[in-house]
Amino acid sequence: MEKPLIRFRDKRLQLIWEKVSTAERLTFDDGHTLFQTNDFYALGKMARYVQMVKNGDAVYFSLNQKIEPTNICVLTCKFCNFGVTKYHPRAYELTIDAILKMLNEQVREVHITGALHPEWSFEHYVHIIRAIREHFPRIGIKAFTAVEIWYFHKKFNLSIEEVLKRLQEAGVQALPGGGAEVFSERIHNELFPQKLGAKEWLSIHRTAHLQGLPSNATILYGHIETIEERVNHLLQIRSLQDETGGFLSFIPLAFQPGTTKIKPYAYPTSALDDLKMIAVSRLLLDNVPHIKAYWVMSTEEVASAALNYGADDLEGTVGGERIAHDAGARTPTKLSINRILSLIRDAGKIPVERDIMYNPIAIHSPNVIGKIPYLNSVPFFTKFTSSSFKLLPLIPKQMGILAEKKQLLAGLFPLIEYLRLKSMLLPLPYCLSSRDQVKSVLLFSNEGWKQLEGKKIGVTDATVTSVMLLKVLLRVKYNVNAHIERLPPMMSSYTHYDAVLLIGDQALKHKKDALGYFELIFDLAHEWYEWKRLPFVFALWAIQASATEEEKSALLNTLNESIDYGERNFAKLCGYHAKQLKISEIECIEYLEGFNFRMGQRELASIQEFERCISELITIEH
Ligand code: SF4
Repeated sequence: MEKPLIRFRDKRLQLIWEKVSTAERLTFDDGHTLFQTNDFYALGKMARYVQMVKNGDAVYFSLNQKIEPTNICVLTCKFCNFGVTKYHPRAYELTIDAILKMLNEQVREVHITGALHPEWSFEHYVHIIRAIREHFPRIGIKAFTAVEIWYFHKKFNLSIEEVLKRLQEAGVQALPGGGAEVFSERIHNELFPQKLGAKEWLSIHRTAHLQGLPSNATILYGHIETIEERVNHLLQIRSLQDETGGFLSFIPLAFQPGTTKIKPYAYPTSALDDLKMIAVSRLLLDNVPHIKAYWVMSTEEVASAALNYGADDLEGTVGGERIAHDAGARTPTKLSINRILSLIRDAGKIPVERDIMYNPIAIHSPNVIGKIPYLNSVPFFTKFTSSSFKLLPLIPKQMGILAEKKQLLAGLFPLIEYLRLKSMLLPLPYCLSSRDQVKSVLLFSNEGWKQLEGKKIGVTDATVTSVMLLKVLLRVKYNVNAHIERLPPMMSSYTHYDAVLLIGDQALKHKKDALGYFELIFDLAHEWYEWKRLPFVFALWAIQASATEEEKSALLNTLNESIDYGERNFAKLCGYHAKQLKISEIECIEYLEGFNFRMGQRELASIQEFERCISELITIEH
């Protein structure tokens, strides 16, 4: 995306913008300045730029159901209006049947958090999860904050690893981000001394990530915290994300004064503060993929505005939230899908219904173009500005799934997906093909090709084309039969694989360290070139065959202009992306120079030859 022109009233932001627009990491002092500034418009524009680079026009939401199984709590945190003692008139306990009745086949994500019940057994919590998994196998389960995990660990004398493992086995797929409050010893001592602190919260999330369980993170702001404490909180989240990469989203939660024991008569946070919190989070958390505008606490209108201040997720329908409402939130307890769609459309964005892992399920907008968010496709998109189309970043394998449902008008399709859907797609004369080495489709291995017979190869879940190329090379070129397994979504160690296939920016990043374990690196495009003396076409542009003539010619014009600019300006494109990938600008330019972006005779011949090899592979495998 092209850098917008921003006129700064606060000149301190000019220096921060230099960093943001070249992907240089912001410091504590930068974060402090961002919270202090009154140049609100410039702050929003910077955050929106980062949001657009990361997520294009997409705003995610889910058809979700919040479940709080009980409000009976052993603790009495000062800021909480939800937890009560067993004999309080508001006390409740939901049975498993009552919980199941709150769900239906339309729900795609259940979000379970609650109070720390003095009498329930750990088995009871596991039963809740298991019952949901058995009755609703399609629903993603996000359950139990670090506060609850810590409570289970202490009360039932189980290690954190064991608690997480048993919940994971029962069906938990991700942890919610609640319970972080503000990472500050002062606030911990003052507001919730009996509850876990920053160290424990971070350690639980670290353990979850290492066990392959992604999570989310929050901050509860707008009470007694200082700007320094806010910035420090954000930087601690960023630092853990550097270590594990396990956070899916960050969710600023606006404090609801209610009748809590702090600020009893205070006003809620201002819209300005809510938007600032979103914008600064987007700018400081450069490694967290999504920032959520939690409408339940900030109001629908502010959440909708936040979609142009850095947020790319609007939570979801929620369905019966109690914790924030017991603390005085005046928002509805749930929203209809139509209301969510209109809040997102009002912000000029594409509503994308997602699952728990942010895979798109449905796109509620016409004329959406799928964009592979890897460096190699950047030349197509830097000048891709057209009022007729909206861009949606997608990992390669999702392109075909959505095009098949007619939810994408066009895009850069992975070759295998194009071949699968070619009766409904019309190819355009642009592609992504490697001249020889591609440098970003790499097999990391401890064995030579011939020695991979019978060995276990882990392959990324993001691609089908590169996996097919690997299979063709193994079986047809080398006559080797290896065992190919999909890698789980989050991997901390690859030591139980004999080889691992990675693609895109992930492969580029690990080219130097070979995942810290492997000795050999094979470039799959180079293997193909050596064998066939042809480039390898990884992806090609195509549009729905049902598109109108106007849509086709508008897309061709936009693409033409964009790639013309992209091909002539590798150096300009590389500044930002090289820094993000921690490679030098020279490496970045050389990498892009290895691609051909236009379909020619040799590319067409290569596609034909690849199709022939796939037929041969099928014959061998049969
Ligand atoms: S914040 Fe959670 S742990 Fe603290 S009193 Fe409320 S429900 Fe209990």
